[in-house]
Amino acid sequence: MEALYRKYRPSTFADVVGQEHVKTTLQNQILSGSVAHAYLFTGPRGIGKTTVARLVAKAVNCLALNGGEPCNACDACKDVMSGSSLDVAEIDAASQTGVENVRENIIESVRFSPNKLKRRVYIIDEVHMLSTSSFNALLKTLEEPPAHAVFILATTELHKVPATVISRCQRFDFRRVSVETIVERLKGITRDEGANVDEDVLLEIARHADGGLRDAESMLGQVLALDEKRITMEIASLVIPATNRLMVDAFVTALAARDAKIALGLVNDALWHGVDLPQFTENVVAALRDRMLADLSSELAPLIESLLEARRHMKGARMVQLPLELAIMKCCLTQNDPKVQAGRLDSVRAEPVVAPAIVSQAAEVRAAPTVSPADPVLPTEERIEPVSTALGDVPVLDLEDVRRKWPEVFEQIKACNATLPMVMQTGELTAVEGNSVEIAFAYPVYVEAVNQDKNRKLLEQVLTRVLGRPVRVRAKHVKKEVEEVVDQLIDAFGGTVV
Ligand SMILES: [Zn+2]
Repeated sequence: MEALYRKYRPSTFADVVGQEHVKTTLQNQILSGSVAHAYLFTGPRGIGKTTVARLVAKAVNCLALNGGEPCNACDACKDVMSGSSLDVAEIDAASQTGVENVRENIIESVRFSPNKLKRRVYIIDEVHMLSTSSFNALLKTLEEPPAHAVFILATTELHKVPATVISRCQRFDFRRVSVETIVERLKGITRDEGANVDEDVLLEIARHADGGLRDAESMLGQVLALDEKRITMEIASLVIPATNRLMVDAFVTALAARDAKIALGLVNDALWHGVDLPQFTENVVAALRDRMLADLSSELAPLIESLLEARRHMKGARMVQLPLELAIMKCCLTQNDPKVQAGRLDSVRAEPVVAPAIVSQAAEVRAAPTVSPADPVLPTEERIEPVSTALGDVPVLDLEDVRRKWPEVFEQIKACNATLPMVMQTGELTAVEGNSVEIAFAYPVYVEAVNQDKNRKLLEQVLTRVLGRPVRVRAKHVKKEVEEVVDQLIDAFGGTVV
């Protein structure tokens, strides 16, 4: 089966999906005969840069332009479309031959008049891959381009293109295509293919493609290849990479119920199933955003913000799931924050569309206690034993003692609280001063969790019992190296890490 993105490759500017700003300007230039000698197309992969470059190659040579569109019928158009024209060269700079071509072929051939067409067009894909000497050779040509030459340079990594080259080009920034636009496009293809695909499948594909039209089209191709009479989400999930909608819905429902156990269980399941967690997180954000806009309510904003923060921290994290787990803790355990009070999140409580296979593991632990007012707390009589407070009777507490007893403390906490042990696992005992034990955490949200009265008291009671003396607990935030590096990078790049 021919790849859909090839089969449906636009033959006119009107057919190009999105990129309106680019198309309008280019078509005006083509109509007025003011085409530039060098263009630089930048933007993520798979959003139409090469497609538009080929349309320009056709339009600047077309013998019967039709309102800024190539006619696709004249000899010149046919010549370009056949891919055999000697006057249109397409070079992939990412390949070794591409690099050689630029230096030896292009720079040499550009001086000669076109073989047959009006203009010689050079399309250089992934131009940032060129060697320094190739760039220098190219630059010389761009400084004094022959009248008949048009260069179209395309890159996904603008920062690797020398400023001297950029300054010689007219630059167009290609943008990610919106989910709505991709869905429309996929609907059109589905119709033309005579296929029956549920709309939520198209939506899922569009979301997964992250603005990349080519990825969306190729995913649709795989779905259509399943060759079912009607393609439902259930069938499509065989093909769509495993960030499926059901899991996202289950996760949103768990967050709405502030059920950290279920939510954490789902993250665990997702990892186990090889789900791409950053993508999963984005899908959850997209689902929450849809609901926020549908309800015209800002109540979901803090939840979305913490998930976006988690998404940002996933890059560079050694445990990719950790930022998401922290966001869950923050959303589910922050008891006093009115924004996440149980009742307030009712608006996101979806019909529980939960795939049994997916959440079975999580559901098993549903009965386990979470941090809630109903938590089993140690019997009052056992609280803070009246141990001798005379210093002479009790040896001074030191860090090593506490460390040695820590596993026992951990086990006892585990016996009466489900979430606190998970928090404790991420912390590190850093100091003991007098009767005060200090635990350091890399994330403020864990500090908050331990400092909550109920949790802190429980920890202190258990420590007091295990160590045989009154103990106080202090949680503090210590930045990890990795986190610091990520923060620095974020600052350096102006706060946008994708
Ligand atoms: Zn034509």
